[in-house]
Amino acid sequence: MDQERRELADTPQQELAELVSLYSAKGLSGPTAHAVAAELTRHDAFAAHLEIELGIDPKRLANPWQAAFASAVSFTTGALLPLIAVLAPPSAWRIPVTFVAVLAALALTGDISARLGRASRRTATIRLVVGGSLALLVTYGIGRLVGAVVA
Ligand SMILES: [Zn+2]
Repeated sequence: MDQERRELADTPQQELAELVSLYSAKGLSGPTAHAVAAELTRHDAFAAHLEIELGIDPKRLANPWQAAFASAVSFTTGALLPLIAVLAPPSAWRIPVTFVAVLAALALTGDISARLGRASRRTATIRLVVGGSLALLVTYGIGRLVGAVVA
């Protein structure tokens, strides 16, 4: 991004020509590519270059601190449900309650992430529930094996 900013300041004519050729390569005719490049350069040259050269929208760049905080909160919240499911019920019920609670949490996660990403809610939910079930079964199996050896 810094390099792009420097190029725009140092060689604006070359940058305009670059934009024109990139829009031509995208399929616009010569005059249209030139008009688009000129108008975008007048509007916000920096954003136009970032978008077509790097695929970046400077307004939508994630703030790393915000991303770190969001991850910390969501991982903690996500881990809370299985933890409660393990600790709350009487010991005989722990495994089935945990299994159901984790799958319900995964189904919810799939649904929410699909809504946010505008993807298929059905596909996302099935993928997480099936993947989660397999992970639970493998973990349970390893626990049985290792637990049997230790006990
Ligand atoms: Zn450029």
